[in-house]
Amino acid sequence: MSTASLVADLVATFRAEGRIVIVGASLAGLRAAEALRECGFRGKLTLIGDEPHEPYDRPPLSKQVLQGWVRADHTRLARLRAVDAEWRLGVAATGLDRVNRQVLLANGDKIDYDRLLIATGVRARPWFNAREGALKGVFTLRTCDDAARLQAALHAGPRRVLIVGSGFIGSEMASVCCELGLPVTVTERADGPLVGVLGGVIGDIAAKMQRDAGVDLRTGVAVEALEADDEGHVRQARFSDGATLDVDIVVASLGSVRNIEWLDGAGLAAGFWGVGCDAGCRAFDINGVVTDNIFVAGDIARAPHVLYEYNFISMEHWDNAVCGARVAANNMISLETERRAHLPLPMFWSAQFGVNIKGVGVCSFGDEIVFTQGSPDQRRFAAAYGHRGRIVGAVTFDHGKWLEYYGALIERSAPFPPPPPGYDRPRDMTPIPARFPDPHVPTEIPDVVLTGHDPTSRGAEFHPRS
Ligand code: FAD
Repeated sequence: MSTASLVADLVATFRAEGRIVIVGASLAGLRAAEALRECGFRGKLTLIGDEPHEPYDRPPLSKQVLQGWVRADHTRLARLRAVDAEWRLGVAATGLDRVNRQVLLANGDKIDYDRLLIATGVRARPWFNAREGALKGVFTLRTCDDAARLQAALHAGPRRVLIVGSGFIGSEMASVCCELGLPVTVTERADGPLVGVLGGVIGDIAAKMQRDAGVDLRTGVAVEALEADDEGHVRQARFSDGATLDVDIVVASLGSVRNIEWLDGAGLAAGFWGVGCDAGCRAFDINGVVTDNIFVAGDIARAPHVLYEYNFISMEHWDNAVCGARVAANNMISLETERRAHLPLPMFWSAQFGVNIKGVGVCSFGDEIVFTQGSPDQRRFAAAYGHRGRIVGAVTFDHGKWLEYYGALIERSAPFPPPPPGYDRPRDMTPIPARFPDPHVPTEIPDVVLTGHDPTSRGAEFHPRS
């Protein structure tokens, strides 16, 4: 046999054989499994998921499910092809042994792998006080079980709902409450809703939208305590401005926490930020050296992006999970020259208060914003975000058809302010500060420190903050 055909055989075997384990059996996990089979992987495939359910779709949970239009258990993801996998559902991965190439499960099983995909996503950040968080009537929303419980509680006709936090999901829930005719209060530490993702200028518009719809929106205020009745049901909330509010339902919509605990001690670059990886979805070890056989996709991944000055960015968006899963799958079974980069232009959408909000790029990377089309007063507009003289993101309110146009500008790193398309221009097209929160606020996160003195012993370690 010639060397060339020997190499070809080896490549074909590498591509098709072996054991691949995917931890996290949801959107990214399922789409990666499908893509692996699509790309010709014939080896053993195992999907491990701690939820008992088959993969389901999360976006409808805060929209159609809470409305009562779709049942929470009717959100299963469409299967795009057969995956011929072993499904280990309802059992969590609790550890990763990289030396022996094994995933450790909560039931004591050990699953061998040759290549591993980490797709464990994020969970809802819990209420800061565990006792209060366990009260009846206090909810978070991440899973279909959460959605089923919250849907039932909302449809039981509570006297007042309190939503703490007004990012996309909190705002969507407030919108659903209004449509159900429920009195709803939203509290937000920042100046307005959506400020973390879209900045204060859009936050002002979102705040007006909420108030016009009847939401009792309180900004610049935090909830300090929840009080319960004798039956352990939440009945009152106490705010940082001294006010109190009678409530029957509290929904904590405080953002997310990445599911990385099972990777403790595995020596990967895993922390509160997710799992660091390169643009080809290969995980970094704790020293920032790329691994060969461990890949990352979906909400938990954090990778450098060429369009954003190579900053490490994680994107908790549906499109990113699907696209990242496909790239990871391709790269898991490809030689170096066939590997692809996952360089998505993030896209996001949200439906709230009768408005279709869509975005492209990383708006929070911008420091300036300019309205380029339509009318902010009528909540029908497009706005672009700029950083160092180039466009980095865009958001549209009921103007989604222009998203592609702005996406193409962002991909080309076009100048900011960008040339708006030919018509429907607002009178004032002066860029103004986008008003994102100050990122320089200290956090409680552990430090990564360098240890060792000579080059052979030099390496990184996590040190918890005291
Ligand atoms: P996940 O869907 O979080 O899946 C990770 C899975 O891994 C979970 O099943 C988890 O339980 C499991 N897991 C975690 N730890 C372990 C472990 N140790 N062992 C085994 N399994 C584990 N995006 C949009 O773009 N537009 C929207 O409108 C939108 N709306 C949303 C509304 C809601 C209510 C939510 C919750 C999300 C929404 N998203 C939206 C975000 C989108 O759903 C996510 O980006 C997507 O689900 C990410 O997929 P993933 O597979 O990476 O992570």
